[in-house]
Amino acid sequence: MTEKLSSELEQRFLDMEENYKRIRFELEEAAIASGRSPEEVTLLAATKTVPVEVINHGISLGIRHIGENRVQELCEKYEGYAPVDLQFIGHLQTNKVRQVIGKVSMIQSVDSERLAREISRQAEKAGRTMDILIEVNIGREENKSGVLPEALPELLGQAAAMPRLRVRGLMAIPPADAEKADTIRFFSRMTQYFIDIKQKSIDNVTMDYLSMGMSADFADAIRAGANLVRVGSALFGPRIYR
Ligand SMILES: *Cc1c(COP(=O)(O)O)cnc(C)c1O
Repeated sequence: MTEKLSSELEQRFLDMEENYKRIRFELEEAAIASGRSPEEVTLLAATKTVPVEVINHGISLGIRHIGENRVQELCEKYEGYAPVDLQFIGHLQTNKVRQVIGKVSMIQSVDSERLAREISRQAEKAGRTMDILIEVNIGREENKSGVLPEALPELLGQAAAMPRLRVRGLMAIPPADAEKADTIRFFSRMTQYFIDIKQKSIDNVTMDYLSMGMSADFADAIRAGANLVRVGSALFGPRIYR
């Protein structure tokens, strides 16, 4: 490694330490502000484009959960991660399900019966049960992943009936260009769905995780009710696409 590269990496590690402390602090404040203890809120590092050595530095700082977006990238990095809970958070094509079963503890982005069925099928082949979240297209955006809110009950029912799935909660990504007030309204609406579903006590559905909030808005998401936030660039710095 050249000297320039290694000092760049060193600087990146120092920045991350600062970032991690600040994010933990903001997470804890937001949890307490919403009447919960900080331990009830899970910080998941979104690691797309982040090299394994940088991720592993994050793990040494205390990161316990990471999420990848792309199957190929996950598979390439998989052998390199330090011990950590790995989840899948990106759009998942049915023909790639087989590659992530056995590697991830949860698939956060299930938005169709077809995908749910394939996950259950591949989990059965592998002798496992998969935890999933249902992704909701809360901003009703065209060409965006997630099930529309009105289709959520049907998909929940279908997924709950699949033998090798455990529905553990909901996930959402509000529109990237929304005003802060609108984003908070989307978060609150998700929390309402989360609570409503929890109260229905559906067999094989436990509303344990409400995954929403990213770098720009994770504290707002927590104050609105999120208990799992996915933070990338605020932790690792701007993404460098190669
Ligand atoms: C990239 C990504 C994140 C993190 O985004 P940042 O704005 O960098 O924090 C969170 N969730 C998903 C699904 C992502 O793809």
